[in-house]
Amino acid sequence: MSLLSVKALDARYGLLKAVRSVSFSCNQGDVVALVGANGAGKTTLLRTIAGVHPVHGGHVVFDGYDITAIRAYKRVGLGIAMVPEGRRLFGGMTVEENLEVAGMRARKGQWNFDSVLDAFPQIRPKLKSLAGQLSGGQQQAVSIARALMTNPRLLLLDEISLGLSPIAVDQVYQSLQTLISAGTTIVLVEQDLTRALAVSKRVICMLEGNIPLQGERDDVSREQIMDAYFGLARSQEQANH
Ligand code: ATP
Repeated sequence: MSLLSVKALDARYGLLKAVRSVSFSCNQGDVVALVGANGAGKTTLLRTIAGVHPVHGGHVVFDGYDITAIRAYKRVGLGIAMVPEGRRLFGGMTVEENLEVAGMRARKGQWNFDSVLDAFPQIRPKLKSLAGQLSGGQQQAVSIARALMTNPRLLLLDEISLGLSPIAVDQVYQSLQTLISAGTTIVLVEQDLTRALAVSKRVICMLEGNIPLQGERDDVSREQIMDAYFGLARSQEQANH
């Protein structure tokens, strides 16, 4: 059985259809790269799965339960954690406090203060620093670490490399590899296709709210992904008809 199943999901901003009848599923331990151009609907899809954006139509099924009508904070309790674009830490609290707050109502599981710090060694010396005073890379590490403290069964990561230096991105991805080795199920929105493909098992390509391409990473070529990314596959189809 799939851990997450998204069925004919629609999400809107007023009249704008940001996600259009999207369906996909992922299994426990999968790492899914969700790629696509700016405005394709990736963030909205993640937010809808996390329950912070309303569903206009369709269903989100998690571990066999239809959670479409379940509120965001309850989804965290079920094991869905999202790291939003832009990190959104409690900047006036220390790193330690940010982690502790997230751990207060954590599910039981492999992640605790120590195991999270083992996965993100770069934040150990910063525990007493205010989160708002850290570098972008350190803040990103804390935001993923904070999500891990809830012991998620599904981690939704939105553009974790955005605005970071290449070295900081390397470091964050090194930690991500530790989570992946630990069997964490991840849906990863990433602009850097090479990085996304390097860590993922499956790839989903979004274009204008739709999914023109999805499959096992090893079954889809980079060319197919780029075509789906820019809508070339569809233009070709239209030209042939
Ligand atoms: P990006 O990489 O730029 O974040 P994305 O693939 O994540 O792109 P979304 O942010 O989900 O795409 O945006 C999907 C569509 O919804 C776009 O047309 C965008 O302009 C629109 N949109 C996003 N947020 C809002 C909002 N708060 N109000 C109105 N429209 C929005």
